[in-house]
Amino acid sequence: MPPGLSNGEIPKMRDARDSFRPPMTRSARVPILTWHAMGVSGNDYATNDHVAFARDLEAIHAAGLRIVSLRRIADALIAGRLDKLEGCVGLSIDDGADLDFHDVPQPAWGPQRGMLRVLADFRARHGADAQPDLHLTSFAVVSPQARAHLDRTCMAGCGWWNDDWWPAAEATGLMSIENHSWDHNHESLETSATTAAPGTFAITSETEAEVEIGAAARWLRQRRQRGGAVLFAYPYDDVSEFLSTSWLPRHGPAGEILAAYAGDSAPVVRESSRWRIPRYGFGRDWKSESGLLDVLRDAGVAARPRGRIFRMLAAAKGRLRAAGVRRARTWSDHLRTWEVSDARVLAGDLFRRSFGQDVPDYPRHFVLVYSPESGPGSTTPEVVAYCHQRAFEEVYLEGGMCADAGAYRRMPRWLFEQARARPAHRIRRHRQGTPDGVLAARTARGGEAAPDRARRFHRRLLAIFPREPRAATRPSRRGSWPSTRAPRPRRQDRGPGP
Ligand SMILES: [Zn+2]
Repeated sequence: MPPGLSNGEIPKMRDARDSFRPPMTRSARVPILTWHAMGVSGNDYATNDHVAFARDLEAIHAAGLRIVSLRRIADALIAGRLDKLEGCVGLSIDDGADLDFHDVPQPAWGPQRGMLRVLADFRARHGADAQPDLHLTSFAVVSPQARAHLDRTCMAGCGWWNDDWWPAAEATGLMSIENHSWDHNHESLETSATTAAPGTFAITSETEAEVEIGAAARWLRQRRQRGGAVLFAYPYDDVSEFLSTSWLPRHGPAGEILAAYAGDSAPVVRESSRWRIPRYGFGRDWKSESGLLDVLRDAGVAARPRGRIFRMLAAAKGRLRAAGVRRARTWSDHLRTWEVSDARVLAGDLFRRSFGQDVPDYPRHFVLVYSPESGPGSTTPEVVAYCHQRAFEEVYLEGGMCADAGAYRRMPRWLFEQARARPAHRIRRHRQGTPDGVLAARTARGGEAAPDRARRFHRRLLAIFPREPRAATRPSRRGSWPSTRAPRPRRQDRGPGP
């Protein structure tokens, strides 16, 4: 259905048989479920939205439900054809931090699998045919300034609330980035685009609505690199009368805002307003896998039996989609450097194994996270290298570099080959001239762009192991890659200094 079609408008091209269809006795019911990728206060289902999301995907699939995008549900609702989606369910996540996309090293609870990778893991496990329309909608806080501020006040202050991954997430076909307002009107912000009480979204002014929703949608379209319709989710699920019954109906369609989502703990039905589409929330509406099944039961959804033709079509569609998003594999999708506020949990064991002492209390800590490919093996992300920095006059001195010697053995061969192609010898030469413990120095202010830092860090990791390609480290056809030969003894200059 084209965007901007207003609620209740009847599509022009109708099947002639539609006029003979008996009136529906029961409206289709389509639940939409919501998680928060920042919801990490442990590593079990109840305390970790990533763990819950992975298990909930399995439960939804096992219940025979079909996952479709929120856009599809909105289109069907607006066109009055929700009955086409009987047996379907929509998935969304709110706030839009890096944890939606990347595997992130959470300082207190260890590396977390990004939500998009959880989705990709599901697809790898079951095949593209299993859920051909698999999709997750991420509602992101749009303002970069607000995100940078909230990163410091609501998260660990590690710079985890970026938007550089939006186009890449969109390009997978598995995730779309949508509007969660300009600044969320969060209590911790010093300034906000609205005068509504902080911590609410009770907007009553045209101008404020235009900035918080209209301008935010335009900025978001540009940044995610996909034009057209934008979906909006109310911050705090706080639906003001003004927005839902006045501003959005008047300005939404013209601004290509297609629909708005709240948290009313109910399924979407024929009568739902497109400006207040209900959702269920993890933590509020369910806290366990059996709780999710209760929610789905209460929502009245039942799997619709699928015929052979449908299954064949779905399979073909799934294969097409999977082929469309395939691209060259690159090491940077699987190895990424993160600055973290505290590395004791993330790299404490690795550091102790390397230097026989705890991670020192230095101001800056960096970890290299390895994100395994989605597939039959373990997909748990892990920290494979660590280093720290401290300021010394105009430069940062770097030291304490240590890498997990077993890490490369767990990597797939193609990744190892790419990594080995990096010019490690140049790094070694560079390091030989440095004072004890200092591996590198760089200007203290400004830092470097993350990709450069990742690349350099990665090269240093390579400088440690394995060195030149040797006959002894080449894999046998059947053997593991690379060889399980013990790494070389560590050199003095890799001590925990400076
Ligand atoms: Zn929110």
